[in-house]
Amino acid sequence: MAEVVLTQIEKVYPGGFKAVKGIDLHINDAEFIVLVGPSGCGKSTTLRMVAGLEEITGGTIAIGDRVVNDVPPKDRDIAMVFQNYALYPHMSVYKNMAFGLKLRKFPKAEIDRRVQEAARILGIEHLLERKPKALSGGQRQRVAVGRAIVRDPACFLFDEPLSNLDAKLRVETRAELKRLHKRLNTTTIYVTHDQEEAMTLGDRVVVMSEGLIQQCDTPLEVYNHPVNRFVAGFLGTPPMNFLSGKLVEENGQVCFEGEGQKFPLNPDQADRCRARLGSEVTLGLRPEGMFLKPHESASNEDQTGPFKVDVIEPLGNTMDVYLSTSTGARLTARVAAEELDEGTDVKCYFNLQKAHVFEPGDYGLNL
Ligand code: ATP
Repeated sequence: MAEVVLTQIEKVYPGGFKAVKGIDLHINDAEFIVLVGPSGCGKSTTLRMVAGLEEITGGTIAIGDRVVNDVPPKDRDIAMVFQNYALYPHMSVYKNMAFGLKLRKFPKAEIDRRVQEAARILGIEHLLERKPKALSGGQRQRVAVGRAIVRDPACFLFDEPLSNLDAKLRVETRAELKRLHKRLNTTTIYVTHDQEEAMTLGDRVVVMSEGLIQQCDTPLEVYNHPVNRFVAGFLGTPPMNFLSGKLVEENGQVCFEGEGQKFPLNPDQADRCRARLGSEVTLGLRPEGMFLKPHESASNEDQTGPFKVDVIEPLGNTMDVYLSTSTGARLTARVAAEELDEGTDVKCYFNLQKAHVFEPGDYGLNL
């Protein structure tokens, strides 16, 4: 079993800055878990503490059934892939991959078997005699992964391993890493600031901010049921729209009213929010939950409007439409590609089942 269990781990850097503020995380055997969050949220520090590259100032880290707080990195049974790959430039690909095993005094034949097997899995058999400088970025990335695979560790640690690749290669390599995980089933902790990478790779996604875990759940759960406004705003492209206002009652219905707009809440939300009538809230609307109609064709029953189309970004079969109102509210809608002119007025419909109501503030709870 190679569970990784973090219990109340903390990191205070010399000088007193607290980068990680007491994190609890139970990573299951064979799980692929992704730590994601904006720059400076403490995700790399957390990973480096698991690796043993950063001393831990509080709490415990267990890998398998062993607490490793005081175990040196080389004895933790982990293999780490860094953003810059950290390959030895003077060594061939073969020697780069074999190096860790040689240090651990593995027999030559076993080293060869493991290197050949990893090279086959990664499709780099033909590169084994090359030096890193004669490789493309994508090939170097594979060698770095190969070096981790040959170790057959209890846990892989990845620190932004795709950030030096171009966009297309990043997407391809992402899929390869996922296939590799299905094949090897090694417990994996993966750090990225890219929410799309996190959502596509992780069995579970850990969203971090300011040294704390905000939410840890499956990608769909964090997307559809974000616990607070921070998580809601961090996941999703384009990001969720937020409108400030308050809860009011109209004809017996609980409604959101603010920034010149008024919408009834869906019945479940209305039940939960009825006791808060009059309170300040933030309404969250996903761009893909919006539909647009020409202003002239809209009836009196339309929920909002008018919105002015400021900018249209065509994306092929969809387009992002940046909208504003005379009161200064700004929203983005992702809609099916259609004829629409910048500068015209439209009305918006919202999928109210998918609207979120948050308490005020950057970390306001999802009500
Ligand atoms: P990024 O994606 O930019 O790497 P991150 O979420 O991985 O960000 P960390 O590298 O874990 O963030 O850093 C967390 C915080 O700790 C940051 O505010 C950073 O400035 C601070 N920090 C990191 N290393 C040190 C250090 N050696 N001494 C003092 N502060 C540090």
